[in-house]
Amino acid sequence: MSATGTLYIISAPSGAGKTSLVKALIDALPQVRVSVSHTTRGMRPGEVEGVNYHFVERPTFLGMLERGEFLEYAEVFGNLYGTSQLWLEQTLAEGFDLILEIDWQGAQQVRRLLPQAQSIFILPPSQEALRQRLTNRGQDSDEIIERRMREAVSEMSHYLEYDYLVINDDFAHALEDLKSIFRARQLLQETQQRRHGDLLVELLA
Ligand code: 5GP
Repeated sequence: MSATGTLYIISAPSGAGKTSLVKALIDALPQVRVSVSHTTRGMRPGEVEGVNYHFVERPTFLGMLERGEFLEYAEVFGNLYGTSQLWLEQTLAEGFDLILEIDWQGAQQVRRLLPQAQSIFILPPSQEALRQRLTNRGQDSDEIIERRMREAVSEMSHYLEYDYLVINDDFAHALEDLKSIFRARQLLQETQQRRHGDLLVELLA
């Protein structure tokens, strides 16, 4: 794959604030796109088809899987989630940086296929804060919240596999941390060389 943009993987346990942080991040950084995954999960209130996810039936997902259309996929909370390979290749080739909001299983698959991918793990400031955030959503029963807490601890146990850790204690601070990671990558010599080729030729003339 001849990619020019940088691929970022962002993982977090449910309730760590990942979706809001990523939304604020892409609003602030115009050259960054976020991948819209396919999922067999039902739509939550407020979610929009094609924006949050491409919502598909299980047989449709399995057909895409069989045809090799996913770069990676995983089963999370009994639902299937996958990243479209074609869209990812096209977006990176257009020079955009690209975020995959995926779980640790997907992250492992992407790292194997694209070792240059940068991975970021977002953590809540405490277990209590996480429980509070899951409860405040008001969308899930106590039983589901307890299951999500257990899943969160299991997800967080993979933090060692990630390049960067961001603690979402204060939203604005966590957003600045994320922006710093993206800005630093954009200043890498090889990236700057691509972007400012004409300037470099002129400076050395
Ligand atoms: P939710 O259903 O709460 O939106 O997401 C549940 C979990 O699935 C989250 O950890 C989220 O990052 C993960 N997820 C969402 N899309 C994908 C995907 O395309 N691939 C993988 N592996 N995980 C995903």
